[in-house]
Amino acid sequence: MRIALISDVHGNLAALDAVLSALEPFDAVWQLGDVVGYGPEPVAVIRRLQSAGAVGVRGNHDAAALGEISTEWFNDAARTAVEWTTGQLTPAAVEWLASNPRSRVEGDFTFAHGSPRDPLWEYLFSTSLARANVDAFTSPYCLVGHTHVPVAFRETDGRIEAIVPRDGTVLELDGRRAILNPGGVGQPRDGDPRAAAALLDTDARTVTWRRVPYQISVTQQAMRAAGLPQRLIDRLEQGF
Ligand code: ZN
Repeated sequence: MRIALISDVHGNLAALDAVLSALEPFDAVWQLGDVVGYGPEPVAVIRRLQSAGAVGVRGNHDAAALGEISTEWFNDAARTAVEWTTGQLTPAAVEWLASNPRSRVEGDFTFAHGSPRDPLWEYLFSTSLARANVDAFTSPYCLVGHTHVPVAFRETDGRIEAIVPRDGTVLELDGRRAILNPGGVGQPRDGDPRAAAALLDTDARTVTWRRVPYQISVTQQAMRAAGLPQRLIDRLEQGF
């Protein structure tokens, strides 16, 4: 089975459409949370994922948009965007967002937005944090997002190595336990403004990371029209 692996779409429809086109053909879409927040088209993104039959988990921005968690830990721009997003959501969009659990297991893969031990909030930025999380899931592999930075943490003989993938990097899923992050679709933060995602092939047992250009100006224009914070508009073309 070929699976489009995406995270942190953040209401960016142009980026999502570009990624899904680039990853075709695929049999399923797995999403790792933060479908909404920051971006201008939360409902259209939800509809697209729903029609693609996406299965996944909810992120901190999704939970905040649903009113489940306080936005007191969000910075001002993020809070403004989440509050705007809440006002946009239709009852059907709320229902779909709320149908995503905080973590789930599909076959050999545990899903969590942030980390398996703290699904909504922890950022897995380092090998030491990855080390602290390998006992928090029992499947061979764990899929995370949240940092908006593509990475793989793999355990070899008790050591954790970090692999920083580029466009086209292929990792073999050879039974060594690993935590995989496809990067962010809707707001990349590694200095490369192209949307990030990955393709998981469960027959070949590989994951292939991809970077996909999209029309950033289209999303920025929609953000301007929605009155979203300028800092969020600017950062899309900076990739931070
Ligand atoms: Zn996010």
